[in-house]
Amino acid sequence: MSPPLCRFCRTPLVHTLVDLGRQPLANSNLTAEQLAAGAEPRYPLHARVCHECFLVQVDDAVPAEAIFDQDYAYFSSFSSSWVAHAKRYAEAMAVRLDLGPGSQVVEIASNDGYLLQHFVAMGVPVLGIEPAANTAEAARARGVPTEAAFFGEQAAQALAARGVRADLMAANNVLAHTPDISGFVAGFRHVLKPEGVLTFEFPHLLNLIELVQFDTIYHEHYSYLSLLAVERVLRANGLRPFDVEQLATHGGSLRLFCCHQNGSRAETGALAALRAREAAGGLARIETYLDFTPRVEAVRDSFRAYLAAAKGEGRRTAAYGAAAKGNTFLNYCGASADDIVAAFDANPAKQGRFLPGTHAPILAPDEVRKVKPDDLLILPWNLKDEIMAQLEYISEWGGRFVTASPRTEVVG
Ligand SMILES: [Zn+2]
Repeated sequence: MSPPLCRFCRTPLVHTLVDLGRQPLANSNLTAEQLAAGAEPRYPLHARVCHECFLVQVDDAVPAEAIFDQDYAYFSSFSSSWVAHAKRYAEAMAVRLDLGPGSQVVEIASNDGYLLQHFVAMGVPVLGIEPAANTAEAARARGVPTEAAFFGEQAAQALAARGVRADLMAANNVLAHTPDISGFVAGFRHVLKPEGVLTFEFPHLLNLIELVQFDTIYHEHYSYLSLLAVERVLRANGLRPFDVEQLATHGGSLRLFCCHQNGSRAETGALAALRAREAAGGLARIETYLDFTPRVEAVRDSFRAYLAAAKGEGRRTAAYGAAAKGNTFLNYCGASADDIVAAFDANPAKQGRFLPGTHAPILAPDEVRKVKPDDLLILPWNLKDEIMAQLEYISEWGGRFVTASPRTEVVG
């Protein structure tokens, strides 16, 4: 069988970053009926790296209708820390670009208006482009002008033909989720004003590799991005980066500031420093990527050894968090509902359902007191401190907190 082609430069992908096997969709929590019916589709989850452009990508193995058939709507406003992050961004950008009533902000994949609402409050005209009709409707209901559309070169040309020109375009946390990354990026130059600024946020591949964050790999997350790879995609589409900030979100993200290739903005020292850090981290050498699989296997083996020991001691383990990343981890490790007695999650839409693959029941966080797990495995490791502070009381019955990356250990 011939290898798949790089989704950017079309080079055959002959190198594996990590093959996580056949996995259910990490965001598809099952209803009781689905669980009873016993049919849970699984698809290959294989991350490869292109030796030409160093774009890390997962095989396009899932039919689009299966991803969009998940009957789940993610409303960003549900997360208060996410809304606060968006507010800080809006305030900083308004100052930096001197945005006012005569400016135009356009956000791609604007969800329920969680970000644009902050520009609206400052009197800055906005337009959201959001593919999901129900979330676009939720945004309009809160006074954020939003069109339900998929963004790409055609949609951008249609906007430009209507006279839409942006001082700021935001595409935060969408680049990695876009199957046709080049076609998506190609849209921006049509809408961005000559000296306009475009920002992308994405989890940084260097963190994934250095900290063995393989649990951030799942089917709907098509690309794993470095400055090295993104800069090539930008330049192929008439754009270039000129500044970068490092963010703590998603275990370490980049916010890349970009402009037209011939825009006048000078490159900052931060951008040069990041290029140097990626070079020092070996991101332009294929060997760096080929070393990843044994490190992932070591994380898995450490967790399996923990589970065996916990069982031997008669300790019951539950998980905190029912997010995609936890499911990739548990399913790659082969965990079942026998290993994980329950998963606790604050999102009411998930409660009463079952984790994909492991089939552990998802309960509200206040059920922790009823279940009284001996060990609580914190799956969203980036929120560890927050979760430990909230659930400190498990020590009342001798409960312990456990994290599994980069090795499984008791942390409190
Ligand atoms: Zn490539």
